[in-house]
Amino acid sequence: MSSSGRRWEAPHGSTPNVAPRSELWHHGGMGYLDMKKLARPLALARDFEGAIRLLVSHAETHPDDAADALAHAGELAFEVNTAPQPPVEAAATLVFQGDRGRAEALFRAALERSPEHPQALYGLARALPEKSIERIERLTVATTARPTYLGLLDLGDSLRSVGRDYRAAYAAYSRAHELDPRQRTIYMKLADICTKLGKPEAATEWRAKWQQRRERDKPSVKGQALEVVVDTAGWTRCPACNRRFGVDNAGVFADGRHRCGQALTLRPASLRE
Ligand SMILES: [Zn+2]
Repeated sequence: MSSSGRRWEAPHGSTPNVAPRSELWHHGGMGYLDMKKLARPLALARDFEGAIRLLVSHAETHPDDAADALAHAGELAFEVNTAPQPPVEAAATLVFQGDRGRAEALFRAALERSPEHPQALYGLARALPEKSIERIERLTVATTARPTYLGLLDLGDSLRSVGRDYRAAYAAYSRAHELDPRQRTIYMKLADICTKLGKPEAATEWRAKWQQRRERDKPSVKGQALEVVVDTAGWTRCPACNRRFGVDNAGVFADGRHRCGQALTLRPASLRE
């Protein structure tokens, strides 16, 4: 059993009326985290069926944990291979197809108990077909309850391609940009949606913003001095731009920087011995 301190204990003066062979008897007094611990080795051993069964039976007896346990079971259902396998002698590649139908049912059961459960909402969105309108609705609630960069990106893409709602797509992409302004993808998506909205100036602005961002992030990399070995003739190669140059040439190397902007620390070749 679990090494956790929260074991099932019979109340004083009473005998458990459930036979010990029942799984429920064993984890009758456990919390969800204990349950997760119990399901983990099963999942690691790829006994997803066993892990799902454990989580579902836990949900049945622990209403407070039910949504968490069912959402977790839903994630595991994606790992259950339902694809018919080719005969062994013909098997060049094995086919994998997660049990989407079961995952969907488990996420829905979790949402019945806790309608804004983020893991269940994101999970259901993953289980639903890409063209589904419900997928957009679920992602909208999910990204409100627990916004993530990838969730908002996904929502923006769906709003654009399935819902054809460019205004709402722009809003989703903007929020993704706020969460992580380092990603090139989001600037390009924002520029693209501005074009679709008939705002070419705004599109140009987003592209320019990306260029600025890239320039701004550059010095942090280039400012970090790289060590280079200078040969006896005074030549070396810049690792950033891969150009060979003479270190005495002030036109290409000055103030510890190569002309490309990379900071370099020079090490004479003779010191290598
Ligand atoms: Zn260089």
